[in-house]
Amino acid sequence: MSGETRTAAALAQAEKAVIGEIWTSGEAYENLLYLCDRIGHRWAGSESEQAAADFLLAKARQYGLQDVQPQAFSYTAWSRGPARLEITSPVSREIAAIALPYTPAAELEGEVIWVGQGEEEDFARLEGQIAGKVVLSAAEASPGAGQRSSHRREKFARAVAAGAAAFLFANQNPGMLAVTGSLAAGFPAEIPGLGLPRESGEYIVRLLRTGPVRVRLRVESHFAPATSRNILGRVGPPDVGGPFLLVGAHYDAHDIAVGALDNAAGAVICLEAARALATVAEILPMPVRVALFACEEVGLLGAWHCAEQLAGDLARCRFVLNIDSAARGGPGNENLTLCGFPDLVPYFEEIGRRMHYDVPVKNNLSAYSDHFPFAVAGVPNATMGAVDAAAGLVGRGWGHTAADTVDKVSPKALQASAATAARLLLHLAFAEDWPGRHRSREDMAAEIARSPIGWYVEKFGHYPFQPRPSSG
Ligand SMILES: [Zn+2]
Repeated sequence: MSGETRTAAALAQAEKAVIGEIWTSGEAYENLLYLCDRIGHRWAGSESEQAAADFLLAKARQYGLQDVQPQAFSYTAWSRGPARLEITSPVSREIAAIALPYTPAAELEGEVIWVGQGEEEDFARLEGQIAGKVVLSAAEASPGAGQRSSHRREKFARAVAAGAAAFLFANQNPGMLAVTGSLAAGFPAEIPGLGLPRESGEYIVRLLRTGPVRVRLRVESHFAPATSRNILGRVGPPDVGGPFLLVGAHYDAHDIAVGALDNAAGAVICLEAARALATVAEILPMPVRVALFACEEVGLLGAWHCAEQLAGDLARCRFVLNIDSAARGGPGNENLTLCGFPDLVPYFEEIGRRMHYDVPVKNNLSAYSDHFPFAVAGVPNATMGAVDAAAGLVGRGWGHTAADTVDKVSPKALQASAATAARLLLHLAFAEDWPGRHRSREDMAAEIARSPIGWYVEKFGHYPFQPRPSSG
């Protein structure tokens, strides 16, 4: 057999083994149940987050991962106090709302200004009218082909830049589901913000059609120093200074639900892929490092810390595969989004053909999941996610609402995503024709400066979700 044939045979053998392992196992779903039903929300700085870290450490060791260890880092945690939103004029009525994480405590009354989708052109249209007002913006939608929907942090930043007194963020999906999402990366946000269910937002918008609307908001917030832990491990040969792969997923979630889809599912998919790869560890051509990240929801803090600690080793990292919300809908919904590496799109499409398992691939410069700190460092990377079109929901769907619960997760989708992740990693590890080349930090920074978040970086001097240097 030629070298090439031997490699192909070894890859095929490894793929069959990991697929068989995953499709005959209930481990991923059992782990999801434990994380969500027994442990809870895993919010950054909470007891349940610590319990989840302990559980994942024990599981990683039990599954035969090597060098399993916690990686601790410090930051400022936020926890919610009571929040209350009342319309004071033209009617007097309390409406449903929750505090958005990292909102400062506040008590204020003001006139509401509706900015629609909160895009750049919406704010431009209202220039000069926003200062001192309470901005009401729609939450993220699903962008159409070739379009982009700004992230919450960008909409919020536009409100801050325009001198708004407060920020209201209304879900676009119905069902009295107040939407959440952090306003800042581990530091108090510039102005207070509340998340509203669609119904509260629509009510205010209807009232605005007949004249000014005033609201009073009262919110209490608690900030405290905290330490969280990434959980690290490795499968395959020891790291002897050659190329390696990194697969990761965040295990924290928002405090208003158990975050089954976002991202207990991603964490157990990542762990399941690692468990399956550990069964073929002796034939893996290179180490696969595994990182279960803490504090994604509060500004990618775990991933920033991990990338910083890897420092010089990152130059040897062939690829970072991040897994976030990859089990939405049924099995087979996975997709792959490269960040900063459009040239690799055809390569991954070809892997899909070779796997006989088509995964839609695109390149999009997104700053809002754990791949981003690695993208900034110029490492080829992608996030595996999924779209659940069947539910008829826009944007994050159930994500970031109280409805992100275990019943939304299909055990088969966990198996399909874990098998897809494991197979992608095998193809990358065995690739003799790997075309990925690192980019320089300067090159990536220049591309980000030209991207839709370029204005943000220019105005605020940091990426939308990036810890302040002083926060450690
Ligand atoms: Zn997530």
